[in-house]
Amino acid sequence: MKSYENVFISSLTTMRIGGTARHVLEIESENDIPEAYNFASAYWYPTYIIGGGANTIGRDEGLDGVILLNRLRGFNDNNGTFTIMAGENWDTIVEYACEKGYTGIEALSRIPGLVGAAPVQNIGAYGQDISGVFKSARAYDTATHSFITLEKKDMQFAYRKSIMNTMMKGRFFIISVTLELKKGQMTRPFYNSVEKYIEDYGATDFSPKGMRGIVSALRADKLPDPREKASSGSFFKNVYLDPIESEKAEEKGYPVHRGRDGNKINSAWFIEQCGFKGQLLYGMRVNPKAPLVLINESAGTYANLARARAMITSTIYDKFGYWLEQEPVEIINTKNRGAQR
Ligand SMILES: Cc1cc2nc3c(=O)[nH]c(=O)nc-3n(C[C@H](O)[C@H](O)[C@H](O)COP(=O)(O)OP(=O)(O)OC[C@H]3O[C@@H](n4cnc5c(N)ncnc54)[C@H](O)[C@@H]3O)c2cc1C
Repeated sequence: MKSYENVFISSLTTMRIGGTARHVLEIESENDIPEAYNFASAYWYPTYIIGGGANTIGRDEGLDGVILLNRLRGFNDNNGTFTIMAGENWDTIVEYACEKGYTGIEALSRIPGLVGAAPVQNIGAYGQDISGVFKSARAYDTATHSFITLEKKDMQFAYRKSIMNTMMKGRFFIISVTLELKKGQMTRPFYNSVEKYIEDYGATDFSPKGMRGIVSALRADKLPDPREKASSGSFFKNVYLDPIESEKAEEKGYPVHRGRDGNKINSAWFIEQCGFKGQLLYGMRVNPKAPLVLINESAGTYANLARARAMITSTIYDKFGYWLEQEPVEIINTKNRGAQR
């Protein structure tokens, strides 16, 4: 296990914000995991796992604790049952699946990050999410100090949610993920923007490979490449509504989308209505093509990001009565607050 000291969190995350982490440990084998947690608990250090850092925000105070960098590699395909080590690149697996003609994750093409983080927030895009093909995950349980298997039913998947980012946040280190994929292709009607693309460009290939091509083109057009522009992708979640809330919202003239995954208002709509689209707020650019995405153009610090976020969320709350929820997870320094994690 390699270890480093005083590493900038900004260098480990795609938003490129955050002060130093006291310790960074690279997890390269299963045995490294208990060793890393034992080290952290011996010093009462809080811990945080980072894969690709594409859904993680560091704060200016950094972390007086331990970052576990997931670098577990390996992949096995048993006739569509994929067992993937958590440190594999997510999109490399999607590309492989599409090449082989497996359906189930083609719409999740080009999502940055590593496999271990994918079930944490139940990554989703263009009508698919990982819960649709998730079978199980092997994990290290920091509460019982044992290696366990989490089945799909244990994960309690919902929109951008699982037990891993809600009630069991920080408890498990995912070692590998098993997905069950089948040969085939997605069926129409597709997600609105996919249908529009098909209409505009006359696309006819809806095989996994064809769909990967469509999704890649859509994403390249509106989402920043994290290698070129610092962001965490969508900074805010969409607003999901129950049937009564949906009716009330429609009465007020808000655009409620009734889809297979529930009723929602696209939070980008609120941002546009408040005139933030394309604006530079405290160095954070509200992406003109996909306003849910905030780009760290010159913000530099978490304090500036927090100012931009407060301006957007409070304006939307005052005007529409909805409080937008943040999607990326923050590294919170609990060392001086008397909590272990
Ligand atoms: C340009 C851009 C576009 C994006 N588009 C999408 C999109 O379309 N849909 C979508 O859902 N997301 C999207 N995202 C968000 C992000 O890509 C996903 O959340 C992805 O799964 C993050 O992977 P990561 O390895 O970088 O996660 P990290 O930021 O490293 O980790 C994310 C969370 O998972 C935890 N975690 C990581 N690895 C493990 C592990 N092995 N065990 C336990 N917990 C772990 C971390 O502690 C953290 O809380 C986008 C991000 C960017 C920058």
